[in-house]
Amino acid sequence: TPEKTTYSRVLLKISGEALMGDQGFGLHPPTVERIAAEVKSVHDLGVEICMVIGGGNIFRGLQGSAQGMERTTADYMGMLATVMNALAMQGALEALGIHTRVISAITMNEVAEPYIRRRAVRHLEKKRVCIFAAGTGNPYFTTDTAAALRANEMACEAIFMGKQVDGVYDKDPKKHDDAVRFDHISYDDVLAKRLGVMDASAIALSRDNNLPIVVFSLDEPGGFRGILAGEGTYTVVK
Ligand code: UDP
Repeated sequence: TPEKTTYSRVLLKISGEALMGDQGFGLHPPTVERIAAEVKSVHDLGVEICMVIGGGNIFRGLQGSAQGMERTTADYMGMLATVMNALAMQGALEALGIHTRVISAITMNEVAEPYIRRRAVRHLEKKRVCIFAAGTGNPYFTTDTAAALRANEMACEAIFMGKQVDGVYDKDPKKHDDAVRFDHISYDDVLAKRLGVMDASAIALSRDNNLPIVVFSLDEPGGFRGILAGEGTYTVVK
């Protein structure tokens, strides 16, 4: 069971890959629209929503550096990829009548607002969905860490990690039939067992600030809203 079944402010983290559908790369608009509808169903409950979207469907810094690019340059390209995903999500949400702001950790005033914490809080209070883009704005980080950082700054009650699996397993459930899902697991166990929930710095930042992480499947229609009400299967890391 989750910590609580009513939330007033949450952060939804999804990977860039969640937006690519079956294409294997880039953005698949119907998939973006489907996830936007999931967000709307939670927004309709009056929950204040922050989002962080990865960029792995377009570019990953580590991949670029493995192919000989300078790591920091490659990481900035990865951060720019997250802005593209954020804009796609913004468009899909606005098409559903939801007011949104894309808030970028790298200033690009023509495209997105700069990150100003108090301003972002105000947007949330006005029920605008805040999509935090460009990660933390720093190379060598990931959007998981950006999610943990923004969730803390915005005083979210939990991070919801929307994945392709319905929680944290002791081994990859797509490869092992006997994989077992945890209902609860501690931050330290996730780190010690090297379970691929989030990267280690994101887990540590969440642990040090007592921010629960709820891992659930975004493939389940109505999943996000259900999980907030404590329904369905998921894992709580705390
Ligand atoms: N990135 C970065 N700093 C950040 C967030 C992201 O340098 O604070 C870069 C990094 O290169 C990363 C890429 O942006 O590979 C895309 O983000 P991520 O891999 O977290 O996306 P996801 O796996 O969630 O799709």
